[in-house]
Amino acid sequence: MANSLLPFIDQDRCTGCHLCVDICPAGALAQIDGKACLAFPQLCTYCIACEDQCPEDAISLPFLIVFAPPHPNPPQGQLPAKE
Ligand code: SF4
Ligand code: SF4
Repeated sequence: MANSLLPFIDQDRCTGCHLCVDICPAGALAQIDGKACLAFPQLCTYCIACEDQCPEDAISLPFLIVFAPPHPNPPQGQLPAKE
């Protein structure tokens, strides 16, 4: 994935239950020394399945909020009137 953002796995929280490794559809995760890790970051599609699955809240996926530039031709007269 052409993205510098990657899932973060808190090694202190991870209990090594293997759920995230099993559910990752891309095969990006692996378990090493009893802890999950992002072994193949280039395969990650950022689907957030691992974050949803983790019972320990050990996985977090940061998101970058990007604001759109102002519209060059904003629509006129289409907003509801304020009460
Ligand atoms: S689901 Fe969470 S606790 Fe289980 S192995 Fe993955 S990161 Fe660790
Ligand atoms: S975000 Fe999706 S593809 Fe990436 S490691 Fe987690 S489950 Fe796998």
